[in-house]
Amino acid sequence: MAPRAAVAVLALAALASGCAGADSPVRPAPGPQPLKAPPARALDSYASKLRLSLAARAAAAKRWGLTKTPLTAPAPPVKKPVITFRKGFEVTDGEGLPPVFTTVPTKDKVVFLTIDDGAEKDPAFLRMMSDLKIPYTAFLSNYLVEDDYGYFREMRRQGVTLNNHTLTHPYLPGLSYEEQEHEICGMQDIMEKRLGKRPALFRPPYGNYNGDTLRAARSCGIKYAPIWNEEVFVDHWEYRETDQSLHPGDIVLTHFRGKEDWQGTMPDMIRRFMEKVTDEGYAVARLEDYL
Ligand SMILES: [Zn+2]
Repeated sequence: MAPRAAVAVLALAALASGCAGADSPVRPAPGPQPLKAPPARALDSYASKLRLSLAARAAAAKRWGLTKTPLTAPAPPVKKPVITFRKGFEVTDGEGLPPVFTTVPTKDKVVFLTIDDGAEKDPAFLRMMSDLKIPYTAFLSNYLVEDDYGYFREMRRQGVTLNNHTLTHPYLPGLSYEEQEHEICGMQDIMEKRLGKRPALFRPPYGNYNGDTLRAARSCGIKYAPIWNEEVFVDHWEYRETDQSLHPGDIVLTHFRGKEDWQGTMPDMIRRFMEKVTDEGYAVARLEDYL
């Protein structure tokens, strides 16, 4: 083969392997081939981005100081699970209201990461999550995000679904129906205007709600009211169940917090989260894929 042709073949091989690096240009990539992209619908393209090659995932994990490479979530279920109120979390006349739940019924060994409020706006966190392709869902409260909607627009551009966590983060059961409607539906309007989309998910602050909360939420387009089964902090975990462990389909809560709040950064918290999740054999999946 002429030297020029050999160079061309090498260049093609590097492309086909997702450009593994100069030291191994001819080795085929071990994972799915990124060039075989599915149709360019937004969700498909997001899902294909999540399925990075194993080598790329391992390299990203190392860059961000994770002890193990995160496991890849299975493909989203074709038949979506039926979501109902968690037992003991129902409201009177709750038929047809957005269900409150802490775990998605699934046998997949996955957990869902949800991040609340929006106080800390750490650019390194956005880079980390985009690099590692760890899916998560954000629940935003307007009084904490209104000083920098741009940060959350960038999050949305990366494929994250932004959801409703009220205008001012009040204890909702202490408010009238009209006041609750203002808190929830007012946030729907702001999110549509400032962040581009009207959410389908709403999380009541502190996980506190009553029938009026869910009726008000339904009146402005909310379909689900997920709360959580575990909470992860920068230095520990807290569990709702007495067995103190993760279960398939569990929703994990954390917060946009920084060094002033909990002696660590958002990336520190994600390292703590991923360590347990991966050690126990779970992948992180995208909540919206199961709803
Ligand atoms: Zn909150």
